[in-house]
Amino acid sequence: RAKAGRYGQVCYCDKNMLEELERRRRVIQILKDSLSEQSFEMYYQPIYSVKSGDFHYAESLMRIPDSPIGPIYPSEFIPIAEETGLIVDITYVVLDKVCKFINRLLEKGIQVGSIHVNFSAVQFSQPDLVDKVLEIIRSNHTPMSAIEIEFTESTLAESTEVVTEFALRMKDNGIKMGLDDFGTGYSNIATVINIPFGTVKLDKSLVRAAMDKSLSALAVKNLSYTFKQLGMKVIAEGVETDEQRSLVEGFGVDQIQGFYYAKPMPGDDMERFLLEHERR
Ligand code: C2E
Ligand code: MG
Ligand code: MG
Ligand code: MG
Repeated sequence: RAKAGRYGQVCYCDKNMLEELERRRRVIQILKDSLSEQSFEMYYQPIYSVKSGDFHYAESLMRIPDSPIGPIYPSEFIPIAEETGLIVDITYVVLDKVCKFINRLLEKGIQVGSIHVNFSAVQFSQPDLVDKVLEIIRSNHTPMSAIEIEFTESTLAESTEVVTEFALRMKDNGIKMGLDDFGTGYSNIATVINIPFGTVKLDKSLVRAAMDKSLSALAVKNLSYTFKQLGMKVIAEGVETDEQRSLVEGFGVDQIQGFYYAKPMPGDDMERFLLEHERR
């Protein structure tokens, strides 16, 4: 149907568009509520270390439980949180929740390597980002080395200098930095080298491609070797099958993350998972 918009233009909105707009409006409200009530949950996905055969690392992934509009996944709510700027404060709450989770594990004598936290590009527009991050970790008395911050290539494209400066400040404080989803963006190896990351995560699409074509496999293997020669730790993401596991192990990756080992799970389950795998 036709609707008179501002300035008198006519806007044709079909039913699907209106439904989409309404859903978006609801998601924004749910994000605002779950931020102010801090009611969103962090899930954790174990990361397997190839050499030692143990699980002392994990990635934290945000979840919105009991949504009144049915399940809302990160692929839907993270972009909305980014567009509205809500992600800035959400990330601070995420970091605080992760610190408290690490403390809980350490108090129970469970060994923790580090827990990865995702940062969006928008985060880097905040001039007080470094101070805020340090303040949250310090006030929780969490070891700096137990946190690894992940960001994607798109962040680099938007603000290489800001990210470089941030990464240096984090490194000075013993906080680790990792590049997420390598292979999905546009950055080249030169950009990667100029920023002090300790870790590169090969995106699941690279793992898939390497399974399909032997030439791709050669390229991904060489990529993995290059990063390792640069002194970085390499993680393969999205590994679902035993075939994929053995392929990426052949690439010399240090760590593997994927449904093959475990899906993301609530903190209580993660704690049990870690205990069970420690006792083996
Ligand atoms: P990501 O950071 O690359 O996280 C990995 C995603 O891959 C997660 O999706 C995880 O559940 C999924 N995954 C892990 N193993 C496998 C596998 O074997 N197969 C497949 N098909 N998928 C696998 P999830 O939790 O839906 O999150 C999607 C994205 O949303 C994340 O991608 C990240 O970019 C963003 N995200 C999630 N939580 C947060 C957060 O707390 N803050 C920010 N800024 N972004 C977040
Ligand atoms: Mg990530
Ligand atoms: Mg990733
Ligand atoms: Mg991703």
